[in-house]
Amino acid sequence: MTAPRRRVRLRVEGTVQGVGFRPHVHRLATDLGLAGFVLNDAAGVVVEVESDSAAVDRFLERLGAEAPALARIDRVLPQELPAVGDRGFAILLSDAAGDVSAGVPADAATCADCLRELRDPADRRYRYPFVNCTACGPRYTIVTGVPYDRARTTMAAFPMCDACRAEYEDPADRRFHAEPIACPDCGPRLSQPLDIAVDALIGGRIVAVKGIGGYHLACLAHDEAAVARLRGRKRREEKPFAVMAPDVAAAGALVDLTGAERVLLEGRERPIVLARRRPGAAVAPSVAPRSADLGVMLPYSPIHHLLLGDVGAPLVMTSGNRSDEPIAHEDADAARRLAGIADLIVGHDRPIATRVDDSVVRAVPGRAPLVMRRSRGWAPSPLALPVPAPRHILACGAELKSTACVAKDARAWVSHHVGDLGDWETLRAYRATVAHLERLFAVRTEIVAHDMHPDYRSTAYALERDGAARVAVQHHHAHLAACLAEHGETGPAAAAILDGAGYGTDGTIWGGEILVGDIRGFRRAAHLRPVRLPGGDAAVREPWRMACAWLAEATGAETPDVPVALDGRVDAAAWRAVARLARAPRSPVTSSAGRLLDAVAALCGLRVRVTYEGQAAVELEAACDPSERGAYPWDGLDPRPAVAAAAGDLAAGVPVGVVAARTHAGLACAVAGACTDAAAAAGVGLAVLSGGVFQNRLLLGDVATRLDAAGLRVLVPERLPPNDGGISYGQAAVAAASDGGETGP
Ligand code: ZN
Ligand code: ZN
Ligand code: FE
Repeated sequence: MTAPRRRVRLRVEGTVQGVGFRPHVHRLATDLGLAGFVLNDAAGVVVEVESDSAAVDRFLERLGAEAPALARIDRVLPQELPAVGDRGFAILLSDAAGDVSAGVPADAATCADCLRELRDPADRRYRYPFVNCTACGPRYTIVTGVPYDRARTTMAAFPMCDACRAEYEDPADRRFHAEPIACPDCGPRLSQPLDIAVDALIGGRIVAVKGIGGYHLACLAHDEAAVARLRGRKRREEKPFAVMAPDVAAAGALVDLTGAERVLLEGRERPIVLARRRPGAAVAPSVAPRSADLGVMLPYSPIHHLLLGDVGAPLVMTSGNRSDEPIAHEDADAARRLAGIADLIVGHDRPIATRVDDSVVRAVPGRAPLVMRRSRGWAPSPLALPVPAPRHILACGAELKSTACVAKDARAWVSHHVGDLGDWETLRAYRATVAHLERLFAVRTEIVAHDMHPDYRSTAYALERDGAARVAVQHHHAHLAACLAEHGETGPAAAAILDGAGYGTDGTIWGGEILVGDIRGFRRAAHLRPVRLPGGDAAVREPWRMACAWLAEATGAETPDVPVALDGRVDAAAWRAVARLARAPRSPVTSSAGRLLDAVAALCGLRVRVTYEGQAAVELEAACDPSERGAYPWDGLDPRPAVAAAAGDLAAGVPVGVVAARTHAGLACAVAGACTDAAAAAGVGLAVLSGGVFQNRLLLGDVATRLDAAGLRVLVPERLPPNDGGISYGQAAVAAASDGGETGP
């Protein structure tokens, strides 16, 4: 007598296409002797299995537990069906009809199996620079449409050879439906033999290398002449370059790696990991001038593995562009733009559909690492929304470090890092990104969320979009909501948002804010004492102007004395003019914490001018003497006593490292105190820390520790950056939670 048969239909949602999920189901079902089928449809994967009840239960247990590495199951919806008595298990052809939301996976670093083939002289893909499988390889960067299959990737132009097709069609093969499958007979090729590039690099030349998301510029990391030449040609004066090390041991010789950093470094996302540089590390001084940290990463494409393996030494790997332009990814464009920078260009004929920069993470001792830039490896993996969106949402993000986000139901997809929209090329890429996201995730935008800043290009873009309701979200509320939402929370919370700049509801520039609010709304509970920005944007580029403004505030002097460290570095007449501007009612007012740190960095003589936003504050953090325990006094959120004390210390010859550390500790103490007070007054036990200034791990760690000690539960950004890269997701979360579902603009 046989047990009664049971049949179950499963709808599996999440990142389950292009990741080897169907072969996994096939193997599992065959292993357990189940009948049925599996197929991809536009919403995910559909499985039907039939056997005795115990075997079906075992299948259900193992389906998630043994899922492939790249798969992410969001939910499984089971449905009991009458048994039909079929035999055998089949993979059926895809059903492309219906709602397209199956998702496009993120790009993944070359897996261990593919690496073994790459290094095996007997393998048919020995040293083939495009080896990949269902567990690794390009995804988001090659996708042109949905559902995700080869015809809708940039691999469509490469007909498979018989050997590749056999692997592609064999459910037992680890390349079953690996859409970018390729081999030396049928796949993409390099435009130059790799050994020419290897010789050029070893000879001290600069080589442009086409990778997964764009071109990199590479040179020997220990060769000062080569790195200095690269800096000159790229017109990038000081922003640190990232270094790619051949393996984790070589990376460990450059930077001190904690266990957490090692895990990040070797993860399939393969981000750039910012870690503390080892004394005497073999990197040229020009790689990361004035920085205590070094950005390191490991090879993530077969081209990198071959190149780094053959060169045998760490390489600078910086995005292939001139300063501020987007990374080059189209071949003709790259040839034109990189010709004056690189001595040699190594391209290939697999087109990149979407340019995607390397992601950047920074380890924070004792806490989750901070994502500074969420891009290749993570984009466009979905994030959950704590309050589902009643209608489809497009959130336009901010202006610098911009991303866009689309959302429907309980899911949000944040784009790769697009960059500074002030650049025309970047703005063009931004528009293309929005259209691509809407198409990939079948979002028919009904609500457009945007920043309140009238001059952001992202706001202008939002206002161009017809036929959708618009929601303006205050910048720092978006920072607060993004952090709540990524933790699945809706608030209320007391938030300390320390930022460079954001448009406030009163028309002034905010950036040192204590907000009390939730995912729907907020009020401004407290803020840093405002100061005038002498010269508007010029005050951002020239921190000495902020030093002058804050000194005038702190001392009450009409024209403060030029501080010792700036003597001879700023023009006396310009200083007097800026002092006048700092009192002029027409100068804009800001409560920005970023600008306050800029001012102290300038007082210290670290920075008179910056070449990228936030540079002065980054260098002030790097300058901190870790043994210093003092803190400058604040009067609530009024930093004038702290500025006066710093100026006094510097005049008395106290070292910059001590002044920097006391400045950090004073700010952390003041902000933590104000946040604790706001939480107590509002009767909330939850605190949120975000904003670009919290990329500073000293401040983040210090403020979080103080709030912990005050008994608050502290949330900090973990999956998205604290900087403006997280704004689009925050806007989407606010728009979703606030939407009553009414139609029409
Ligand atoms: Zn692989
Ligand atoms: Zn082939
Ligand atoms: Fe911001």
